[in-house]
Formats: sequence, structure tokens, C-alpha cells
Amino acid sequence: MPSFVMTEKCDGCKGQEKTACMYICPHDLMVLDTERMKAHNQEPEQCWECYNCVKICPQQAIEVRAYADFAPLGAAVIPLRGSDSIMWTVKFRNGNLKRYKFPIRLTEEGSVDPYAGTPEPNFDDVKKPGFFNMPIS
Ligand code: SF4
Ligand code: SF4
Repeated sequence: MPSFVMTEKCDGCKGQEKTACMYICPHDLMVLDTERMKAHNQEPEQCWECYNCVKICPQQAIEVRAYADFAPLGAAVIPLRGSDSIMWTVKFRNGNLKRYKFPIRLTEEGSVDPYAGTPEPNFDDVKKPGFFNMPIS
């Protein structure tokens, strides 16, 4: 089941040109109504339920109604992303709550150099098999 926006919580990412949910959705489903400054999922049937928009929303305004085999009616699974960890809150139908916190990174944010230790691309090699960024052995 798709993501949905709780409009009372959404602030339209404070009028930025592109909202966080628009930026992160791999399927370009989120749109902002610039008059009301509220976002919504424009094509719910296309939603992958990937939870990216749920995790990135700074207002915690988005939820995904999970499939019944994963979260039966009346239950919910809600992530809260921090800079180094993510907290999953699991609400059971009987009202019980459980929280699970997991680390999500081992390095400082922004510190990873994905091309460290790889050679500069060489366009003479473009028709050869292999990748330009294969580590030098
Ligand atoms: S990321 Fe959250 S607050 Fe920002 S526009 Fe989307 S739903 Fe609204
Ligand atoms: S759950 Fe994933 S596919 Fe669905 S609207 Fe959010 S980011 Fe897009």
C-alpha cells in the first residue's frame, strides 16, 4: 500500500524549490501543492513502498500503510532516521509498542570518497572489457 502524507504535519519543506520527499522518491511520485504547501503522492498505485520518503521527511509527515502480512490492520511500522542510526517503532494491534535502534553508518557523513584508490578514467580503454574504476592491484 502506498505512502500517504499527514497534511497537518507537512510544511512543504518550508517552501524550498524541491521538497525532501520529491528529491528522494525513486519514482518521482511526490509533488507539492504550492498553494497549500502540502505534498502528496500523485500516483499511489505506482508506489514501491520503499519508505524513502518516510525516512527523509523532516516533519515525520509521511507514513506507509504496510501490507497486511507485514503489518496487520491497526498495526504500524514507523522509521525515524537519525544521522548515525535509525529507530523503528513497531505498533502492535493490541497497543503494544516496541522500538529497535540500528546504526546506519560507520563513517562520518560526507567523509566517504567513492573513487579513493581507483585510477583516473582512460578513454583509450573505453572499448576494452572491465570498468575504469577497478581498484589498482
Ligand atoms: S518531506 Fe515531509 S514536510 Fe517536506 S514536503 Fe514532503 S511530506 Fe511535506
Ligand atoms: S514509498 Fe518510495 S516509491 Fe512510494 S512515494 Fe515514498 S519514496 Fe516514492
